[in-house]
Amino acid sequence: MQCSRCGNQEQKYFYEDRGKFYCRKCIQFGRVNVTDVLKKPQILSKKHKVHAQLDFELTDAQKECSEKLKQAALAQKDCLVYACCGAGKTEICFEVITTFLNMGKKVGFAISRRQVVLEITKRFRKAYPTLKIVPVCQGYTDITDGDLIVCTMHQLYRYYQTFDLLIMDEVDAFPYKGNDVLKPIAMQACLGSLIYLSATPDEEMLKDVAEGRLEMIELFVRPHGHPLIVPTLLKIPGFLQELLMLILIIRHPGQWMIFLPTIDQVRLHSSFYHLFLHSQGITSKTKNKEEIMESFRNKEFSILFTSTILERGITIQGVNILVLFSDHVVFDESSLIQIVGRVDRNWKQPTGYAYLAGATVSHAMKRCRDAIRRMNEDLPDLFS
Ligand SMILES: [Zn+2]
Repeated sequence: MQCSRCGNQEQKYFYEDRGKFYCRKCIQFGRVNVTDVLKKPQILSKKHKVHAQLDFELTDAQKECSEKLKQAALAQKDCLVYACCGAGKTEICFEVITTFLNMGKKVGFAISRRQVVLEITKRFRKAYPTLKIVPVCQGYTDITDGDLIVCTMHQLYRYYQTFDLLIMDEVDAFPYKGNDVLKPIAMQACLGSLIYLSATPDEEMLKDVAEGRLEMIELFVRPHGHPLIVPTLLKIPGFLQELLMLILIIRHPGQWMIFLPTIDQVRLHSSFYHLFLHSQGITSKTKNKEEIMESFRNKEFSILFTSTILERGITIQGVNILVLFSDHVVFDESSLIQIVGRVDRNWKQPTGYAYLAGATVSHAMKRCRDAIRRMNEDLPDLFS
């Protein structure tokens, strides 16, 4: 027996109900009987005549990647775009997306986090004002078809054999990474070309590249040409980290994102410091996340306490970063690289500070710093 949705063959996941077997491994997406044939959803494709309206011009390096990506996708080769944070992974996808849309092909963009689905939807709406861009994630599931679909990885189960081009961002992050149900579901959603975007591809992906199953396109130059900010690692006892935070905020006025390892710590910090700092907190449990992000983006307050929920995909111009208790296990190498990548996103004013403070300096902290140094070595020496 094999589940037609998740591909499971392990007997222990098959349950019998009235003479029919169904798979419990992917039961969160609804019951599928082993004998069921999955059907394509009612999805419309039409030929568009659009071009992406961007308020920036691609750099030469981005243009080159963008062209390579388009050619590979047209040739139905799966691609990995390995780009450092801030290099413009999304930006270099516009050309291939436009090309596919204008050919009447169905395009999907899938990301791990719901928050980022909403962010990316906004960007696509700005770039393609005449198209119907549909976000599909928790809370947004009434409309599931549009000219361009932006969804969480979880929602891909709705799109069996649907996409001619499927772009998947954050494949190296929870919940996609190592998930043996989401992966087959994603593969079934894609009929044509796959594009993975990552700043921290895992070993499995690099192996696929080495063995020729994936074409790798590298982009380590940021649009402003400046190197990535290399984080400063600080070994400092827990109780002194609070003091460090206050000193940094006073010495470098501006906006700060303060990352903390647990939701409780974020709650404690935001309710305490709220009394005398312009601060707020965001965790996965926060109800009005979008509202808080919007007001932070509008610079209405300066300190944002957050859990790892904001480690990816969030762009705040000119923000500084401090990770407290950064030797905690939740902050692995790829998580820290992403967090540090939040700094220095302002093309006009590419400055910013990044500090990782832990009671000890963990391996992940060191590896994060070394990986960023390596990415910087690939840069032309324009600014030294
Ligand atoms: Zn299954």
